[in-house]
Amino acid sequence: MDRDLSIDASVLLPLGSASHQQCESCGAEWPELHAAPQCTTCGGLLVIRHAPPVNARGAQMSGAELQHAFAQHCCARPQGHASGVWRFEQVVMPTAGDAIVSWPEGNTALVHRNAIAQYVGVDSVWCKHEGMNPTGSFKDRGMTVGTTQAVRVGATAVACASTGNTSASLAAYAAQAGLPALVFVPAGQVALGKLTQTLAYGARTLLVRGDFDDCLRLVQESAQELGIYLLNSINPWRLEGQKTIVFELLQQLGWDAPEWIVLPAGNLGNTAAFGKALREAHALGLINRVPRIASVQAAGAAPFAHSFAGGFRTRTRVQADTLATAIRIGDPASHNRAVQAITFSNGVVLSVTDEDIVAAKRVIDAAGVGCEPASAASVAGARALVQRGVINSGDRVVAILTGHVLKDPGILVRMHQDAAFADAPANTPIEIDAKVGAVAQVLREHPSGFSSTTLS
Ligand SMILES: *Cc1c(COP(=O)(O)O)cnc(C)c1O
Ligand SMILES: [Zn+2]
Repeated sequence: MDRDLSIDASVLLPLGSASHQQCESCGAEWPELHAAPQCTTCGGLLVIRHAPPVNARGAQMSGAELQHAFAQHCCARPQGHASGVWRFEQVVMPTAGDAIVSWPEGNTALVHRNAIAQYVGVDSVWCKHEGMNPTGSFKDRGMTVGTTQAVRVGATAVACASTGNTSASLAAYAAQAGLPALVFVPAGQVALGKLTQTLAYGARTLLVRGDFDDCLRLVQESAQELGIYLLNSINPWRLEGQKTIVFELLQQLGWDAPEWIVLPAGNLGNTAAFGKALREAHALGLINRVPRIASVQAAGAAPFAHSFAGGFRTRTRVQADTLATAIRIGDPASHNRAVQAITFSNGVVLSVTDEDIVAAKRVIDAAGVGCEPASAASVAGARALVQRGVINSGDRVVAILTGHVLKDPGILVRMHQDAAFADAPANTPIEIDAKVGAVAQVLREHPSGFSSTTLS
């Protein structure tokens, strides 16, 4: 495929340079340990820039040398490199040293299930289950790096706004680092699993009367005024950690890049991180072909999909509404860098309805894999792209399952106990007397897979 890779030249710093932060808007450079979350000159978002890793001879490591180094790191150091994030330390935060705050996280499985592949409509569909991270979502990959940076800059407290998973993750990592944590979540809009986790890990939790976009505004103002280190996804170090979803899946596929990487998209931090990871992986010689990114939004929260449909000429914001609360975001903070990710990877952005999300979730759940609603948007989106002929039958697809099935027990109760969705039969639990006769009667009335010989 013919694609403009010219920006590659500016991805990496010259050999031997120290990593630093750079403003995406005005280009100003800030030292690595600059603690302000945004450019102090113009308020723009910051991006981390690294020089290529060097080998023992002081020369730039080749792609093969770097692949070998990553493979060696797997079992080297229990608290550091055993993590699926810190294994890639050289391209994430090369100077972290002993400051690392790691659970450890990452090392999530790529799973293949026939039922999911059939539903999507191509054979080679792998689900990378980020719900298998320590707090049940990919946010841990960003948070281990963000919390490490908080320690490095001497932060005395940390804060975030969240639709739930970021707050759960922040609470856990702050507890490990011994830092007090303050989280802002939209009142009444956070899935039960996420809210209760945040409380359990001990973060001071504020239920804001407003939506996520209000929370984000509020945390930025408060952090500045109260001198608290901000760990939202605008924090560039979180994106460095989230890049490792891509590095790890490429490593799992033997550095033979798939045709597509499909992910749910809300605040667009992950889309931006994936684009940065692919640019760097390509520039470092780790891959010689760039997969296309497909970002999938919920139809009721699809400003980025609208913007893509208009050739990215305008930036849209909407009043968000979807049952997929993790992507219920109307004004995504990382819009501009996500545009770069889609453009660089020749990607696409689309939206799927809540009905599509629930239908895909049923398939993922029934395969014994399970995920939270927002995660199912990736499988629903892959299916839509196959139906439109954008994904071809021979393409290899990696769909990111961003969060664990237990994050949102409320929707499972609605799907199965209250039968609130008409798209498929609910798997309603049946209360019985404690007698074998009652069990046999249930299996007669609801045979569903239990053979008649079992019953005779
Ligand atoms: C945060 C989150 C998303 C959205 O990621 P963005 O970086 O905000 O686009 C999707 N799914 C889950 C489960 C999440 O926690
Ligand atoms: Zn600036």
